Amino acid sequence: MNHSEEIKAKLDIVDVVSGYLNLKAAGSNFRATCPFHNEKTPSFMVSPEKQIWHCFGCGKGGDIFSFVMEMEGLDFVETIKLLAPKAGVILDDKDFSQDKNKNRSLEILELSQKYYNFILTNEKNKNDNIIKIREYLLGRGLDLEAINRWGIGYSLNSFDDLSNFLKSKKFTENEIFLSGMSVKNEKGRHYNRFRDRIMFPIKDVSGRTLAFTARVNPFAENNDKSMGKYINSPQTTLYDKSRILFALDKAKMAIKEKGFVIIVEGQMDAITAHEAGFKNLVASSGTALTIAQLNLIKRYTNNLVLSFDQDLAGLAATDRGVAEALKMGLNLKIISFEGIGAKDPDEIIRQNPEAFKRAVDNAKNIIDYYLTEESKNVDLSKPELKNKSVHKILTVINMLYNKVEQDFWLKELSQKYDVNEDSLREEILKIGKKDNKTNISASTKNKGKNFIQQEKADAKSRDDKLFELLLALIFRFPQIFDYVVNNLNLEYILEKYRKLYDLMLVYYNENNKKLDYNQFLAYISTKEDYQDASFSIFLNKIGLLADFYLQEQDDSDLENKIKKEVTGIILEIKKLYYKNLVRNKKEELILLEKRNDKDEISGVMNDLKSLSEELKKLE
Ligand SMILES: [Zn+2]
Repeated sequence: MNHSEEIKAKLDIVDVVSGYLNLKAAGSNFRATCPFHNEKTPSFMVSPEKQIWHCFGCGKGGDIFSFVMEMEGLDFVETIKLLAPKAGVILDDKDFSQDKNKNRSLEILELSQKYYNFILTNEKNKNDNIIKIREYLLGRGLDLEAINRWGIGYSLNSFDDLSNFLKSKKFTENEIFLSGMSVKNEKGRHYNRFRDRIMFPIKDVSGRTLAFTARVNPFAENNDKSMGKYINSPQTTLYDKSRILFALDKAKMAIKEKGFVIIVEGQMDAITAHEAGFKNLVASSGTALTIAQLNLIKRYTNNLVLSFDQDLAGLAATDRGVAEALKMGLNLKIISFEGIGAKDPDEIIRQNPEAFKRAVDNAKNIIDYYLTEESKNVDLSKPELKNKSVHKILTVINMLYNKVEQDFWLKELSQKYDVNEDSLREEILKIGKKDNKTNISASTKNKGKNFIQQEKADAKSRDDKLFELLLALIFRFPQIFDYVVNNLNLEYILEKYRKLYDLMLVYYNENNKKLDYNQFLAYISTKEDYQDASFSIFLNKIGLLADFYLQEQDDSDLENKIKKEVTGIILEIKKLYYKNLVRNKKEELILLEKRNDKDEISGVMNDLKSLSEELKKLE
């Protein structure tokens, strides 16, 4: 057994998934609302018996590894490493050599974090500077425990102490450089990137240090004019600022519990907030949220409460993050700090945590916030200003994913601004059209267009759906297989399902009319044609589809219901078969008519006639 097989054998998918999602029992399976797409009714299913999961809403599915990969944003090797200790599996390093550079960087960052933290917290260290910094942090509400919780440290005013320490741990100059911890001068000499700064580690969802934010020593600010108050690690193979939400590792469970996330801008805001008990809070570390950050947060919740430092008036309409979030169907609320008299969450929380809590509780839906702000700040008696303001709000309403919600806010806008609702609808249509022309990237593609594409895809896959359901029902109720065989000629089965169907039948006949899903998988896993990933996702889907399809049914008289269902499917498959033949013959006929080939035409006409009769018999 290799590592991944061993982990799979020792961990139960239900245990692992329920660490992230609220699973509810559904027959012999479990279900939940899907963490990978926006939905109200659960389409996400997990099978303890088959050790697989599948979402019938967005089509994602797989095993324990693919779930954790998606959820944590990790690659396969990282996922193995995350799960191995939970399974009690010891990994031997040579299997993971392709990942060596990343690992070395991770080790360097981990060691650096511990090194900085030790310098700051070691009580034997009576250095004046360090004592002052400890006092400074304490003044900000960070005692020793909090400092250790966040892994905060201090970098000495030295060019080589950290490098020397790391070299003593057998890391090379180049490895240290690649991890972002050193810089090179023109002569190619390496020296410490961070000197005389308070060091805040930036961690990924799993709590691994990927980078640092470094605040200048507050007592030496005048000495360091060339650099900013805060500097960050550079982008490395590990660290990409746009893909990190600061404090998510600490916040993820609280976000799930509370059902929403508070997003602030600054990392210091996040630390202060967590220490004051606001645990479902992360920092974007910048003004606009990126798509990667939104996808990350979507795994935990669809409800975002945003806290912007600056005055928001006019911001939402231009903020890319807000636009993307609305288009993704996320619910946005905005915190208003009006009347509180502080400039950012950090300050408010330190002055009055209750005020922050109230501000969060009173956070307004983004459109509502916008309506209030605009009507307060704009002189609506001036038609020009009013028009402009209406347009601004309509732009944001247009971004809403949900049409019902759009409708609601159009009515609100109409009332608040005393504008005819129909005119607003006309106006928003114009905005929508303009939007279509300007937005071409996949993620901002117009919803209407996507919807049509979706419809087309659905129409095209109608045959597929029938066959998928048929195969799924056979797996779930092998006793119907004989009935299917007797009532569905092989010629009716679409070419692409034929091979699988044949294999199922062979297996079924060779195994005493039994068709156990797991054993069947083991049986075909030796066959080369079935090694690729898309096929295994397909088989996952087939493995759960019957239960998903039948979940609203009660168990009484199930046998008969299934038989009825299968009879219906077989009939549909036959109809499709004849419809396809009729269509082909018609196309042939058009060609022949162009050529004026009379003999052939009458032959095809006869075929068409008998095919149509067959079809009629079925209908
Ligand atoms: Zn889904």
